[in-house]
Amino acid sequence: MRCPFCRVDNDRVIDSRSIDDGANIRRRRECLSCRRRFTTYERVERQALSVVKKGGVREPFDRDKIRSGLNIACGKRPITEHDIEALVSEIESECYDNYESEVPSRAIGERVMELLRGVDQVAYVRFASVYREFKDARDFVDELEPILASDRAAASDRAAASDRAAARMMAGGQGIVAPRAAGPGGAPVGERPAEAVVEPRGR
Ligand SMILES: [Zn+2]
Repeated sequence: MRCPFCRVDNDRVIDSRSIDDGANIRRRRECLSCRRRFTTYERVERQALSVVKKGGVREPFDRDKIRSGLNIACGKRPITEHDIEALVSEIESECYDNYESEVPSRAIGERVMELLRGVDQVAYVRFASVYREFKDARDFVDELEPILASDRAAASDRAAASDRAAARMMAGGQGIVAPRAAGPGGAPVGERPAEAVVEPRGR
């Protein structure tokens, strides 16, 4: 590496350390000619990625743009700079891993929304409202409806799973007749797997 002070290309590395979770290496060097020290950074070269926008316009992939979109959506929410940086890095890695040289801006926007949705729903809706260009309250409700529906589904899945677990516990395991498993007239129905007598919730 050519010395930035005396321009002589003769140095030794005095320290190397991995930074940014191993994405970059920082090397401290000493020029053997003038004895001054300088720092270099080394990172993996990736093929340039272009973002294809709605009208077909291409621009270089820019993580700062993703970060600033996230910063706006996450304003005053319990999300740290570090969280945002992690999201940006995740999206960046996915884009480079999944696309050769061009990535549609839509794919990035959708992915940002997907990740935000798992992090903070207020930030998610804010991002979605800008990204999807909500025109009125109806659009807003349309966007929210699937979230609310999936939250309800998740809650009822959890309830059903705990019902099943409770039923198994009461039945004491497979092959043992559960307390409710009586046939007409109170006669026992005999040996049945516990699963077969579990009734769905809400009957
Ligand atoms: Zn030098």
